[in-house]
Amino acid sequence: MSVQTIVPALLALHKIDHDMQEFRSRLAALLKDQVAVENNIVHLRENIAEHESAGRKLQAAISGHELDIASRQERIEKMRQSLNTTKNNREYSAILVQISAEKAEVGKIEKVALELMQQLEANTKSTTEAMAQLEKAQASLADTQKKNSEQVGHVKELISRLEAGRGHALGNVPPDARRQYERIHQKYPGNVMAAAEFDHDDLENVTCGGCYMSLNVEDVNVLRGRDEIRKCNSCGRILYLNEMLNANAVQPT
Ligand SMILES: [Zn+2]
Repeated sequence: MSVQTIVPALLALHKIDHDMQEFRSRLAALLKDQVAVENNIVHLRENIAEHESAGRKLQAAISGHELDIASRQERIEKMRQSLNTTKNNREYSAILVQISAEKAEVGKIEKVALELMQQLEANTKSTTEAMAQLEKAQASLADTQKKNSEQVGHVKELISRLEAGRGHALGNVPPDARRQYERIHQKYPGNVMAAAEFDHDDLENVTCGGCYMSLNVEDVNVLRGRDEIRKCNSCGRILYLNEMLNANAVQPT
């Protein structure tokens, strides 16, 4: 076996990325419940704001109608008083007709105002309900955060340690290999490299540990003989030999 530098350097980087991917999934799983509750809180707050805005609009409309009713009643009162000073029956009846028309109008407005008041009452009720739900959701969030905080902190710490080590591992990889690696990393995050799997007494059956498709014995020979990248023709992952893991002391956690 010739002196290998590129693939072992990539394996060290890959180990970091693989672990990082795993910790990130673990973190996402831990935060999943929390995120669901947080989203619910956002939704409830929006809901309450909408209700409050609708409540203000209803209140304004009711006040407008009440003012309208008051001014119409004032007008009715004036007309009633003017009945005492009418000069003849015709004038008297004409005023009575106006009064009755105004009263009918007041009746209509009162009906509308009453409907609005009922809407406002329902709106206030659902606002109160939403507020109670919000309070409950906030308590549940605090509970989940408390339960998760230690584990989340631990996993975040592991991730930031890996992030710190990644730069160093990346620095050991030649630029061209780094570019190839990063390209595959976009496609298979944390799963860029695959072992060429085979039995030492059966080199006719070599498969890719990433996609399980067949590889050629030539792939194994190149990996052993040259210090260069060899990729799986099927999935495009960068191949390595299991013996490289042992040879280069890439220790499992
Ligand atoms: Zn493959």
